[in-house]
Order: sequence, then C-alpha cells, then structure tokens
Amino acid sequence: MIIFPGLDVLWAALPEARVVGGAVRDTLAGKPLADVDMASPLSPDEVMARLSAARLKSIPTGLAHGTVTALVAGQHFEITTLRRDVETDGRHALVAFTDDWQEDAARRDFTINAMSMDRTGTLYDYFGGVADLQAGVVRFVGDAHTRITEDYLRILRFFRFFARYTSGAPDAAAIAAIEELRDGVLLLSAERVWSEVKRILAAESPIAALQLMHSTGVWARVLPEGFDVPRLAALIARGAPVDVMLRAAALFTGEIETIAGRLKLSNEEAEILQSWQIPNALPPTASDADLRRALADTEAPTLIARSWMSGNWPELRTRLAATPRPIFPLQGRDLTELGIPQGPRIGKILAAVRHWWLDGGCIASHEDCRAQALLIVVK
Ligand code: ATP
Ligand code: MG
Repeated sequence: MIIFPGLDVLWAALPEARVVGGAVRDTLAGKPLADVDMASPLSPDEVMARLSAARLKSIPTGLAHGTVTALVAGQHFEITTLRRDVETDGRHALVAFTDDWQEDAARRDFTINAMSMDRTGTLYDYFGGVADLQAGVVRFVGDAHTRITEDYLRILRFFRFFARYTSGAPDAAAIAAIEELRDGVLLLSAERVWSEVKRILAAESPIAALQLMHSTGVWARVLPEGFDVPRLAALIARGAPVDVMLRAAALFTGEIETIAGRLKLSNEEAEILQSWQIPNALPPTASDADLRRALADTEAPTLIARSWMSGNWPELRTRLAATPRPIFPLQGRDLTELGIPQGPRIGKILAAVRHWWLDGGCIASHEDCRAQALLIVVK
C-alpha cells in the first residue's frame, strides 16, 4: 500500500490510475517518498475532466506527452497516460497512447522502475523488479544494448540507480552494453549530463558507481578533466553531509572554468566550486581572533565547506557557525566627515585601517577605527 498525502483523494477521482516508477520502488525499498507519479489508461482530456468533476486543480503540463499535473493537498501529482514508443533516436521518443499497462512498463528503463501499484495495494511487476530490488540489481527492461540505443541518457541513469540500490557487482549485460555504447554520452546535452551527475553524487554512497563510471570509460566522456575518487571517499569517510556541491568540489580535478563550460554549470555553482576548493586556511587550533579574521573575509558556510575538505573538525565547525561575522565598522563617509577630501586616498586609508582592524582580531570599535584613521592621516 502506498501512503502519501492527497493520494486517497486523487484515487477517489481516478480509481483506475496506478502509482508508477520511483514511488513504487522506494515504497518497496522502505525509503521515504519525495513525490508520487501516476499513470492511467485514460486520455489526458479524460483525466482533466475527472479532476475538474472532483473539484481538483489540474495543470496541462505536457498534454502532447500525455502528462497532466493534479494539485491535491498542496502536492503535485503527475498523471501520465499509458504510452508506448513509436520511434526513438537515442535522445527523443515519439510516443503513442495505449491502454496496455505492460506496454507502458516495457518502455521504462530498469526492472525496478517498471513496477506499478493500484489503489488496493496490488503490485504489478511485469519484469521481475521485486526480485532485482531485493538482490540489489539494476537491470534493463529487455535487451540492454537496444534500450541504450533508444535513449543514451539511460547510461547515466544506470549509474544513478546503481549508486542507490547496488552494493555488489553490477549486471554484466548492462556493463557490456554501456562499454560498447559509451560514446552515446557525447550526444547528450550538457544540462542533462550535469543534472544526472548531481543525482549520482546525491546517493548516500556514490563511490562504487563513480569507480564503475571510470572503468567503463563513461567518466572520461562526461569530464575528460578527470576526477579524484579517493579525495571524495575521504570526504565521505569524514562524515561530511550529503551535499552535492561539496562532493563535486572534492571530486572534480582540473580547471573549474573548463568544467563549468563543459557541464554548463550555473554561475553560482561555478563560484561555489571555485571557492570551496581553496585549501582550508583555518587549522582546528585556530584562535577566536583567527576565526573572526577569516569570517571578516569569507562567509561561514564557505569556511565550513573548506574545513570539510581538509579534515573532520567538529569543534572548529561549531565555533565557526556560532561566531558572528565581524563587520568592519568604518566607511568612506566616516573619513570625509573627518575632513579627508573625496578621492583615491580615502580608499587607501580605509584599506590600511581595515588591515589594522584585522590584525587586532576584528574587535576595534568604530571610535577606535576613526582614531586609527586619524593617526594614519597625520603620519
Ligand atoms: P528518482 O527518485 O531519482 O526521481 P524516479 O524513478 O522517480 O527516481 P525519474 O527520473 O523521476 O526517476 O523518472 C520516473 C520514472 O520514469 C522512472 O522510474 C522510469 O520508470 C521512467 N523513466 C524516466 N526516464 C526514463 C528514461 N530515460 N527511459 C526509460 N524510462 C524512464
Ligand atoms: Mg522521480
């Protein structure tokens, strides 16, 4: 039985719909559900009509693909009409609607993703997904080679689910097909590749999956700049939080600019990688004044991330989080008020006073800093 807020209301309006894909898999695996996807044999128009008859909000998300989003109890449910593939080219699929549940399951990627469950809790497992989930096997539905040539993204999806569900050896047929077809990764858009890499890094223990990506030659096609798995393994062993960007900072080697261009990282992501990769300057023995000095230049989350990159120093991190960020108390305006004329000299004096303020551990007051400015002016 799948329990999720709003699902009973939705099922009352669409009793023939089933939960499909990840929510079935994760329910069986005893993992929490982030969202619930549904499928139904009804056409998208019929689904919309049923929802509106039940006074439920709906959004025609992708009518051409058969997807309607229902809004129930503050949750979004995607309801997709059963489909079969008519044509595939490695990246896109042309689909037709069907009322055959098994046909819809057959176009899904892995056996563990191809199960569905109805409102009574009956499980429909056409391809042995339960057994594979129990054994921790990620296996393609049908012939691995064929399924990859239909959609090369499935190579990366394999590693996403391998990272989450497999603790032992990978499925041999999948690996053979991936090795043969790995150049297909080069056809994928950078956005899809990066989004899939982030999902792999979000797995509790992604190390084995990354090693497998390396040994199959897939990683070299994702990022020829290379990667440092031992550094990521050390970060995880230290107990660092599951933070995708922290893990990426530990994993990626090479110029961040090149990587950012290749994977089309957002500016924010690129900046995070740049600044988190700077070696930690704060040892665990740092004094309170050292902490304040560091915080005057750099935000606490960045310093905490850098500390994770270097060692497991819980005390240092607690102190960093608890120390208010010192703010340099002098501004240009204060200097003009002291009679110093506008101009480049103001900036120079401010910089000198700030230097002095930092040296003193960032405790000098506004008054102290003014006095120091006057001293500099007189000199
Ligand atoms: P997650 O918890 O990572 O979201 P998920 O199973 O929900 O896992 P999605 O990427 O959200 O994964 O896709 C939902 C479902 O749609 C999958 O379980 C699978 O059945 C199907 N699916 C998605 N992408 C593909 C694909 N490229 N090829 C075949 N089936 C796919
Ligand atoms: Mg999903």
